[in-house]
This record gives sequence, C-alpha cells and structure tokens, in this order.
Amino acid sequence: MRNSKYLIVGSSHAALEAAAAIRMQDPDGALAMVTRDTRLPYSPTILPYVVSGRSEPERILLRDEAWFADNAIGFVRGETLAAVDAAARTARFASGAEWRYEKLLLATGAAPAIPPVKGLAEVPFHVLRSMDDAVRLRDAIATARRAVVLGAGLIGMHAAENLAKAGAAVTVVEMQAQVLPGYFEPDAARMIERAFAAKGVTMEMGRTVTAAEPRGQGCAVILDDGRAIEADLLLVSTGVKPEMAYLAGGGVDTDRGILVDDRMRSSAPGIWAAGDVAQARGFYDGAKVVAGILPNAVEQGRIAGMDMAEDEGVKSFPGSVPLNTYTFFGQQAISVGLSAGGEGREVHETVGEGGKSYRRIVLEGDRLRGVSAINDFVDAGIMWQLVLRQVDLSAVKADFVARPLETGRMLMSRIWR
Ligand SMILES: Cc1cc2nc3c(=O)[nH]c(=O)nc-3n(C[C@H](O)[C@H](O)[C@H](O)COP(=O)(O)OP(=O)(O)OC[C@H]3O[C@@H](n4cnc5c(N)ncnc54)[C@H](O)[C@@H]3O)c2cc1C
Repeated sequence: MRNSKYLIVGSSHAALEAAAAIRMQDPDGALAMVTRDTRLPYSPTILPYVVSGRSEPERILLRDEAWFADNAIGFVRGETLAAVDAAARTARFASGAEWRYEKLLLATGAAPAIPPVKGLAEVPFHVLRSMDDAVRLRDAIATARRAVVLGAGLIGMHAAENLAKAGAAVTVVEMQAQVLPGYFEPDAARMIERAFAAKGVTMEMGRTVTAAEPRGQGCAVILDDGRAIEADLLLVSTGVKPEMAYLAGGGVDTDRGILVDDRMRSSAPGIWAAGDVAQARGFYDGAKVVAGILPNAVEQGRIAGMDMAEDEGVKSFPGSVPLNTYTFFGQQAISVGLSAGGEGREVHETVGEGGKSYRRIVLEGDRLRGVSAINDFVDAGIMWQLVLRQVDLSAVKADFVARPLETGRMLMSRIWR
C-alpha cells in the first residue's frame, strides 16, 4: 500500500490545475497524480488538430517530466482507478496497486457515450477522446473512402470536415433536427449545414440509426427509414458520460456525475471531484449540471486544489457558463451561454447580407444570458465575462445590441480597471 497526503486521479486540465493550487499553499505535502493514460498530459481540445494532421502528438503536451519533478509531484501513468473505499480512505487500481490518501481528487473526466444501437458492438468503429483515439482516427481517415459520422456535435462535425477534406464521401447522421444542438438555434445550424453540404457532405438530420451490420472490412448503418449506408470508417460521436465506474461500490453520491458542492467537495469526507466528471452548480438556476468544457475543468480544478490545501483564498464556484468556439471550412462560430429564447428572455437575431453571417443575443432583463454568432466577431471571452459577472447593461442596452463587441469591450475595460 502506497501513501500520499494528496492523491489526484487523472492528469488533464482539472488534475493539473488542482496540483498547482495545492503546491501554492502546501509546497511539501506528499502529492501523487495517478492516471490511466500512458502519455504525459495533453489537452483533449487539441485532438481535432491531431486528427487533421496539423498538430503532432509529441508537440502538444501540457506539462513535461521536469514540471512534475520541480513541483515534487509523483506522476504515475498507465494505472486505472478501479474502486474507492471512502470510509477507509483507500483507492484500488486495476493493476492491484493500492493507495492510502488523506485527500483524494477524482478528475477522471468523461468517456464517449456509446448509444444502444443493435449490432454496433460487432462492427469496427472509432471514438475520439484520447490521444490514442486521435492517432488511430487520423491514420484511418487517410485511407477512408466512405465514412459515416454518428452525432453532429462538435467532435463529429470536426471529424466530418477532416474526412471531407481528405476526399471521403461523408454522411453525418444526427437524431435531432439540426447540427450542434444546444450550441446553435436552427437558423445558425442551417448555415453550418449548408457549408457542409456545399463541400459534398450528406447531412441526415432528424434520423436515427436503428442497427449496424458488418460489411467486408467496414460496416453498414441502417437508418430509421430503412436505408443502409455503407462505410469503411464509422465514427461514433454521440456525446460523453462521466468516467466514474470506480464508484459503483457506493460511498460517494452520484447522479449524472459525481455530485459536488461549491468547493468541489463530494458527499464523502476527504473526496473532491472536478472537471467533466463532476456535477456542480449550474449558472442559470443553480441546478447541478455536468458541463464538459475546458474553462470549467480549470476553474473547478483550482477550487478543489485550494480547498484540499485549506487555502483561505478559495472562492465558491459561481456555476458554469458554456463557452465554445468552432471553426468550419474557414468560417468562425462562437456559442456562449444560453442560445434558446423563452419566458422573460429577449432575443435579438441578425442575419448578415446574403446569409453569410449571423448573430443572436439573448438578454434577460438588463443581463446578458448568451450570444451565438457565425462570421461575426464578437469576442467570446468578453461575452463570457459579461454573462458570468452578470454585468448590468441597463445604461447601454441598445448600444450593446447594435454593437456588442465595442460595447462589451468598453464595459469590461471599466471593470478590469
Ligand atoms: C475532441 C475534443 C475536443 C474538445 N474541444 C473542446 C473545446 O473546443 N472547448 C472546450 O471548452 N472543451 C472542449 N473539449 C472538452 C474538454 O477537453 C474537457 O472539458 C476537458 O478536457 C475536461 O478536463 P478534465 O480534466 O475534467 O478531464 P479529461 O480531459 O477527460 O481527462 C480525464 C483524465 O482522467 C484519466 N482517467 C480517466 N478515467 C480514469 C481512471 N479510471 N483511472 C485513472 N485515470 C483515469 C484520463 O486518462 C485523463 O487523464 C473537447 C473534448 C474533446 C474530446
């Protein structure tokens, strides 16, 4: 049995941020980071660029060996957490290794959610979450002639673009009526769909896959209208689910993720959770949500680390505001906060000349709730700050609606000053 005052499981954004926060407050307490991955830490957000060939796997590391040595962090790779005994404060790994901890951070992120499609387990398919997935997908794209992408979220759409650029005949199948549901409203989604269709991608929106069957080296997916689409490359990108199977034995409250309070504390004393695995306060109504985005993992990791090290400067988690930037075929899109209208919300939608650009502003009273835009530069970071800080727009509301970028910058420069 190995011992560590602080044990962090996972080695991505939440884990690294927590480790740095712990070291700021407690330079000497024994700290170990144990992870399933066999590589040095990297960001999953960079994987689409590995798939496209723009980034080399070795060149995109978040930390090197020296960082762990300099910060006296024991870094153990290739170990999968299998069970946690919250009462005994021990963690057991699949290899049989056991660790005793005083304080444990679960930062194990999320894994692809595989839909229950008949026959899917019997056909070869790809997912995209780890560097190994990305390298496999990159290599397969190079030779794919016909590809099916299941799920039109950000990961699926990036891959569909890469496949189209590599010359494959691509079909995107999405259960909902549009691409990128949750990020963009239908008008914006149609613009993105048109850009893909113009590049020869077949968009099957509002369709479900009822079965998958082996065909030669590849497969065929059967749609709910009975059509079969053959593919030598199938990517399943239908969402993610928190990686928390190791809690099946109980002792820590879970729902869709590991339930945490505003300091990222779980229901079990001595155990924190942060990042894509955690279900924490949502920004808009306080209901707990799993929010799978990078800024969230960083913020939650920092709060967890500070709280674990009893840093008095720790602040409560304010809730997560979605923030996504998306580039497709050279066009720029952003989605910040809420995109849907609804009771009490004021929506201002503008479509640029020839339908080439788009902007949607969602307000509630004098507060900004969300902005989405295509080919209309509004600075996602500034918009995100305005939503998160609930900046009062009452004095500048009309100006903001007309010129969100300039007005937003002016407001934030006052606040930051
Ligand atoms: C292709 C892709 C593109 C993305 N693009 C964006 C983007 O543009 N913007 C954005 O905001 N977000 C994006 N995201 C999401 C973003 O990457 C995540 O929100 C962020 O990485 C979450 O960090 P995390 O530390 O919580 O977990 P993860 O990054 O998921 O890392 C989990 C860590 O835990 C380890 N682990 C998992 N299970 C175990 C176990 N049982 N035992 C031991 N170790 C384990 C893993 O090896 C890994 O080190 C993207 C994700 C993907 C996959």
